[in-house]
Amino acid sequence: MMREAIVSIAGKQGPINNVRKALAQLDLTCLKGKSILVKPNIGRAATVARGYNTHPQAIAGVIEMVMQAGAKKIAIGESPLVGIDTLEAFKKGGVTEVAEKYQVELIDFDAHKPVRKEITEGRVLESTKICSSVYEFDYLVSVPVSKTHMHTGVTLGIKNMKGCLYRHEKVRYHQLEYRNKIFPEKTLDSAISDLATILMPDLTVIDGYIGMEGLGPSGGQAKRSDFCVASWHPMGADIYGCILMGLDPQTIAHLRLISERCNMPLNPDAYTVIPEKYDKYIVSYCIPPTNISVEFKNIQIYDNESCSACLSTLMLFLRRFKDDMSQYVLHDGKFHIAIGKGVSDAIEGTIFVGNCTKFMKDKGVVVKGCPPVPTRIYEAVTGREPDENEPEVE
Ligand code: SF4
Repeated sequence: MMREAIVSIAGKQGPINNVRKALAQLDLTCLKGKSILVKPNIGRAATVARGYNTHPQAIAGVIEMVMQAGAKKIAIGESPLVGIDTLEAFKKGGVTEVAEKYQVELIDFDAHKPVRKEITEGRVLESTKICSSVYEFDYLVSVPVSKTHMHTGVTLGIKNMKGCLYRHEKVRYHQLEYRNKIFPEKTLDSAISDLATILMPDLTVIDGYIGMEGLGPSGGQAKRSDFCVASWHPMGADIYGCILMGLDPQTIAHLRLISERCNMPLNPDAYTVIPEKYDKYIVSYCIPPTNISVEFKNIQIYDNESCSACLSTLMLFLRRFKDDMSQYVLHDGKFHIAIGKGVSDAIEGTIFVGNCTKFMKDKGVVVKGCPPVPTRIYEAVTGREPDENEPEVE
């Protein structure tokens, strides 16, 4: 399709009005009589204030606007992190309530058989399994929440397409063989760019009402930034999403790759922005730290080529149990814990989290799972179950 290089920005009006305003500045007439699939980012079962998920009122704003444009059928679909129940995530994230209010269907992508799509000239993928519901609608609308990402810099509209991958297929993107000798980028960035060659959103609406900064996409801090970026151009939307987060899109490897491979300009000047003066909506998101040990005193974390699921498990584990780990320190006075398939530099006595660290079993304890739950790590370290009266950290 011919993509209009117009980017619409709105802000400081709350989640629903930001979306209404941003979409009102675009031409939506092509949606008349069409079926629309809204794909938010509801990766976890979490309440809105945490910044994990797209705000339900932003989703409501999208539904209202596409209804007004004359869409004949609308649904909301998602395949969340592995191990998360889609319908529970919808419920906790306030999406079920929105769906009921507007009488639109909720689709658990993982409940339907996937389709395998070939990727010709893929860098790291030859084919991939995509949820079939994605192909049952005329238009796919990506509605991500603005987050920084430990592994990919940011997660915005294009990266949100990873939530259209069927179940464990998402995890496979993190388990691909290292190709760094051939390509300088991370394997995951190459995989996301491979996916982008076959699946892109038609329309992108970035909800920046409450995003996440720092250790995103799961372990960061909620960031109230109150903006929305909408565009028919997926690259234009993500570029200006970065700019409103105070980040340079040139530093985001998957955007650079997709720009080259899909012939979509990375230069912000290639896009027409409405309004011309949008500086007042720019906020400054903290980028992910390069070493996450700084967050946790006396804890040495090794993280090399992990996925968000294990990173999230690790953060939840440390937030809940870090004080208990003081009795399990090694000779350097630190508790050592590792995630990801590239952690070969971890020292003897480290706790290795997740199936992809099992090759390190001779150097320490491996906690099986893909990902394991935080309490499994606790049990593996201490040999006992945690006190059930202790509150779970979300
Ligand atoms: S074990 Fe963890 S890091 Fe490895 S693939 Fe599974 S979720 Fe990802």
